[in-house]
Amino acid sequence: MPKAELHVHLEGTVDATTVLALADRHDETPPAHDVAGIDEWYKFDGFPMFLERYFAVLGLLRDPQDFALIATNYLTQASEQGVVHVEFHVSATGHILENGKRWAPIYDGIVAGCERAADATGISWGLIPDISPHLPAADCARAMDEVFDHDLSGIVAIGMGGPADTWTTDDFAPIFAKARSLGIPGVSHAGEHGGPDEVRFAVEHFEARRIQHGIGAMSDPEVVAMLVDGQVPCDVCPGSNIALKAVESAEAHPLAAMVAAGIFVTLGTDDPPMFQTTLMAEYARAWAWCGLDVEGIAKLAQNSISASFASPELKEQWLAFFA
Ligand SMILES: [Zn+2]
Repeated sequence: MPKAELHVHLEGTVDATTVLALADRHDETPPAHDVAGIDEWYKFDGFPMFLERYFAVLGLLRDPQDFALIATNYLTQASEQGVVHVEFHVSATGHILENGKRWAPIYDGIVAGCERAADATGISWGLIPDISPHLPAADCARAMDEVFDHDLSGIVAIGMGGPADTWTTDDFAPIFAKARSLGIPGVSHAGEHGGPDEVRFAVEHFEARRIQHGIGAMSDPEVVAMLVDGQVPCDVCPGSNIALKAVESAEAHPLAAMVAAGIFVTLGTDDPPMFQTTLMAEYARAWAWCGLDVEGIAKLAQNSISASFASPELKEQWLAFFA
């Protein structure tokens, strides 16, 4: 079944073998000395521990070749799972503000890696530079200006990443407004560990066209109605929610309730090797948890294509499979 993956962080696709290779290339001590050790290091007791290790991986991504390598690797793996289109979130403000990198070589490296995989497999791709909300909005605005000043042809949206304690006290909305003025829509993480107010805030203040996660919306019928009536897709990552304890158990996950409520759900992996998952594993979870039939599972794949920022021509071509 052709499907798109709309919620995956490029830096979160770095598997254990690649962590070791990157550490070796940059003469750094890896967080563990073999694949099994890194896989163990990729187990978290919650979001703060995850972020600490996520940013440790970010620190190993230094040259354009590093970014090209991980982009090619993931698109190749995705293509093997029937994925026809990937939209990569990229931690743009993290690289620029926290690691002191310039955007242009990062972007150029990612694009080279994506094009290499696209030539080999036919997969389509787009990039979503993310703002990290734990950084001051004024600094993020400066960093995103660097993004806006470079080639925009591979960028399909900008995003707000991670948890959002600072949203309402710091003003990120002008960054989204600037993106829209350049013809670039916004998407936003919301309602992952937080509640429905985050989801409402992202839609109202960032004009988010898609929500990453959104599972916290379910406790407020008004926010659910806003998502359903506005056909605002939620890019849900069940394996991530379990790994980071955003839900207590598989049984407690609201995926089935979201689908039943008519929310436009797509499935993603978030950070697949870090959460020991794949997109196929996420579809298997949805199958098991939601009691879906073939048509129901196909609807999730169709949703992912419809909700993507791919061109209307490509969408039509992929959706023809389901006709
Ligand atoms: Zn995410």
